[in-house]
Amino acid sequence: MSEVQTFESFGLSEPVRRAVAEVGYPTPTPVQQATFQTIAEGKDVIVQSRTGSGKTAAFALPLIDRVIKPARNVQVMVLCPTRELALQVAGEFERLGKYSELGVTPIYGGAGMQQQIDALKAGAKVVVGTPGRMLDHLRRKTLDVSNLRAIVLDEGDEMLSMGFAEELNAILGMLPKGRQALIFSATMPDAMSRMAARHQREPVTIALSSDNVAPSGIEHHAYFSASGGSVPDLLKVLEIEKPKAALVFCNTKAETELVARGLQNAGYRAEYLNGDLAQNDRERVMGLLREERVDFLVATDVAARGIDVPHLSHVIHCGFPESPEAYVHRSGRTGRAGRTGTAISLIGPHDIGNLYLLRLTYGIRPIERTLPSAAENRTRIEAARVESLVAAASGKVSDDALVLAKRLLTHDDAERAVAWLVDRFVMGVREEEAMPPVPSERPSAPAAVAAAAEAPAREPRANGRPPRERAPRRERAEPEPERKIEVHHADPKAPEATPGEEVGMESLELAVGRREGVRAGEVARLLRDVGLLAKSEVGRIHVRDRVTLVSVSAEKIDELLEVLADVKYNDVPVAPKRADVASAPETAAPVIAAETATAD
Ligand code: AMP
Repeated sequence: MSEVQTFESFGLSEPVRRAVAEVGYPTPTPVQQATFQTIAEGKDVIVQSRTGSGKTAAFALPLIDRVIKPARNVQVMVLCPTRELALQVAGEFERLGKYSELGVTPIYGGAGMQQQIDALKAGAKVVVGTPGRMLDHLRRKTLDVSNLRAIVLDEGDEMLSMGFAEELNAILGMLPKGRQALIFSATMPDAMSRMAARHQREPVTIALSSDNVAPSGIEHHAYFSASGGSVPDLLKVLEIEKPKAALVFCNTKAETELVARGLQNAGYRAEYLNGDLAQNDRERVMGLLREERVDFLVATDVAARGIDVPHLSHVIHCGFPESPEAYVHRSGRTGRAGRTGTAISLIGPHDIGNLYLLRLTYGIRPIERTLPSAAENRTRIEAARVESLVAAASGKVSDDALVLAKRLLTHDDAERAVAWLVDRFVMGVREEEAMPPVPSERPSAPAAVAAAAEAPAREPRANGRPPRERAPRRERAEPEPERKIEVHHADPKAPEATPGEEVGMESLELAVGRREGVRAGEVARLLRDVGLLAKSEVGRIHVRDRVTLVSVSAEKIDELLEVLADVKYNDVPVAPKRADVASAPETAAPVIAAETATAD
């Protein structure tokens, strides 16, 4: 292997050489060097190679160059754990086989059967797909494998861990005897070895990283937080780490949607990918990611398996994985093909054991970091606000304004006047909202929101760019209704809508009110900033003496109860709960402000 260093030394045919040059691979990666000749000679192989090492080209190149013949029939079958990986592998075959008249057909569930049958009839030489659908075609005899020359199990361990053993055995049993069998697998569990023993002939084992399957070139960071992978913590991490693009992993499908929405609400271009998405939605999301129109893809392990998006600089374990193998596989989505990357974990109290196991199993010791405290976060946000204000003010100003500013700055109330301007023109606070009942009792505004509530993502993004436009989502297509602030002085004779009575809304009760300096506008911002709610999902807000009642989207109330559990307002826990509207306390107490999302 040591003398094989360049693609020239592979002795590639002209069409393949041309395609490799066009794709731009400068030299073969170690796995390509180690496997080319053996596969080209038609031998069975078991390749234990770490993820992202260039393994697809390692089997595609020799198969296209030496194994596939001009006859127009199916000669190579590649089985992959997921549709996404199947599409990627098919793409690699198409690129490397561009001048070799290949015909590549992806075969996976969720796409039209007839369409695949037509594509097969058109003369595909390579079929790439997931085991379930491939078996379907074999059983229906819509896929003729009588001339098959090679079968590849790509990410074999993943297919087994996803429960495809039965399908794999059935498929392998239906293929012609003389075919070559190539197994590529990052880890080699016993079940994989048994399958190899059953379906391969004298395989050559090539282990490139038997001691350590973890991709090199990846830095590992761990942030410890009481809540583990909550959206507010994730937003803080993004502000600190400033990833350009990242794959964010969650442990459940529901979390992927929640986290993606939290990122969108904070202004990030994020989408989610999980097994519940319809096939065309999955393809749309992957397309957006590849075209770099989405920067954060939030996914479950299963949905993200095999995803190869070269520009991903970070993998974020928003929910820490249960097994060290899953950590390795997830983290391998960055640092592809010799690039560097960063894997970041949000570690909650329950994850410590799994973190320890990761160290024991793979020797991975993430650099430990702590999330900034509420006070540090606030200081950072204030500094960012000042910077962005000064930057925004670098444009042209009139002489009149400069003269006025000079006079203003010498005035005794200069500070207050500037604060008023900031409220109106920087923070977007309206007159009624900002006006406290008794000016001397006014709380210091930022102190109102502790820990999670300060939303770093409302500031200019970490990279200095203004907040990115949200990725368009269908449900947001309609313009949001005009917001209007009302000041109500409670009139016991005039009944008014209680929070939670609006259609599709429920009432949330927070254990803080006027005494704690609560202001309706700040509550609205807080709810949106914890990353869960769009503007239209926060309704009327009634601030009372000791409690605040807020009308919120009924769909979100459970998530809110969870996220707000640790949040404090001016150091007082907000202790959220579902309001019992009928017996809500202080129903006759004065309402100082209500904010509605109605257009009345
Ligand atoms: P894989 O391990 O097949 O998922 O490949 C990981 C990444 O490496 C893909 O983006 C490939 O396009 C890229 N790649 C494959 N072979 C080479 C090579 N010889 N030089 C540079 N990049 C490569």
